[in-house]
Amino acid sequence: MKCSEDGLLVGMAHPMMRGEERAVTRVVTDRAGVVLNLEDVRGCNRLSCEQCGSPVLFFDAVLLQGSLSREALRKAYDVRFRGSLVASERSAEYRLYACRCRVKMVKSVRVLAEERYDSDLDWSCRGHHARPVSPS
Ligand SMILES: [Zn+2]
Ligand SMILES: [Zn+2]
Repeated sequence: MKCSEDGLLVGMAHPMMRGEERAVTRVVTDRAGVVLNLEDVRGCNRLSCEQCGSPVLFFDAVLLQGSLSREALRKAYDVRFRGSLVASERSAEYRLYACRCRVKMVKSVRVLAEERYDSDLDWSCRGHHARPVSPS
């Protein structure tokens, strides 16, 4: 089961999905892309990139130090960006998303299905379990 709108990127004002019970979150957007029911928004934690085949990692309230070349981005990804991230006042509201080939900082809510029209960002939800896993 995939996220509504094929996954959401969200800033720090919104929680990420934990467990699976909120896996399908309905986000209604009007034609201007404005999210109408913000209280229901959960960021997708199961994104994957179609270009490089990597799971998309996410980091809370940090910025990348400087800009990374393609090669540097690949290397940084492989060590989970250890040493490449810096917390700053500006980054507090943002969540950083990254695969091996792309990086994106998100402050509000970005719907991936709409994001594809504006950029070549090729991320999508890998799917979630249909039911919450009950604790044993
Ligand atoms: Zn998802
Ligand atoms: Zn990628």
